[in-house]
Amino acid sequence: MDGKVRQVGPDIYQIYLPLPTRPSIVNVYLVRSGDEWALIDTGMQSEESIATFKAALQEVNCPPSAIRTLLCTHHHPDHFGTSRTYKDLTGAEVYLHPLELPRIERMQSTAPSPEALAFFRTHGVPMPESPDGHPTPGRYFGTLYAPTAPDHLLQDGDTIRIGTRECVVIWTPGHTPGHCCFYFPQDKIVIVGDHLLPKITPHVGVYYMGPENPLLDFIRSQQKIQQFDVELVLPAHGAIFKDHRYRAQQIIQHHYYRLQEIHDTIKNRAKTAYEIAMEIFDFGSDRPIFHMLAATFETLAHLHFLMHEGTVEKIEEKERIKFIATRPASYALHHR
Ligand SMILES: [Zn+2]
Repeated sequence: MDGKVRQVGPDIYQIYLPLPTRPSIVNVYLVRSGDEWALIDTGMQSEESIATFKAALQEVNCPPSAIRTLLCTHHHPDHFGTSRTYKDLTGAEVYLHPLELPRIERMQSTAPSPEALAFFRTHGVPMPESPDGHPTPGRYFGTLYAPTAPDHLLQDGDTIRIGTRECVVIWTPGHTPGHCCFYFPQDKIVIVGDHLLPKITPHVGVYYMGPENPLLDFIRSQQKIQQFDVELVLPAHGAIFKDHRYRAQQIIQHHYYRLQEIHDTIKNRAKTAYEIAMEIFDFGSDRPIFHMLAATFETLAHLHFLMHEGTVEKIEEKERIKFIATRPASYALHHR
């Protein structure tokens, strides 16, 4: 076998599935209790990923029909993109948080909405003249995204049974509004999706459909996860790790530095979110429009946080929205 599956806990297996995008691998997890299995997240809908997944099932002797439960951390293509195929393959019941539902539809849209285009323009993102050049998630992901309708909606604090195992749902909004982590109290193991990654920080952004202050949600979710007694963290990207509190604090600190950096760039002059993003994020010479958009949304998340703190104000000009620092701030030295 090619080693795409390995045991990471008692009857818990990690499968790494290939992605055509960056990051290039997503980890999904199989959890077993007796004859019953659960799958956590799905990878993207590509031939290579599905073949890898099926080979991994064989290697751990899991017949597809033994997978009764499919838990998804959030709606993104690398986590929920093969949910329809794997529901058909296994007959599993699919679980997802209700706040993800409206976003599944948008993820498949191939025509940019006028609201989205107006939103990009007012925040200063240069848009190609031709509608063919307009970015939409549906065009970008295409057949890599095959979502299904969930059978059950997750709620914070729910307990889901997998055989005799208990799995507690921890709602961790921020990366997406309905992002959830899955905690196994008997093993002190938590599957964290994109919430708590060992090497990178997940994208946190404001879009035309909100939410208003996702960075505050995200920071609160980093505080929330620290309340749990955890010995092993199983992330969707990167290696498994132990100290969830240390990593959560690091991620919070990273955002406070970035808040300070963004605040500093608009001390003397009002700028659009796009202008600020181009100063802050280090891009190469070719900039795919999706990266520019992601950087702008991420910058907006920080700007909205600062506006809620009362240290930055929004200036609405004719066709542009700009931001300026109106009160001094010292975020870089924030602790806890
Ligand atoms: Zn994600």
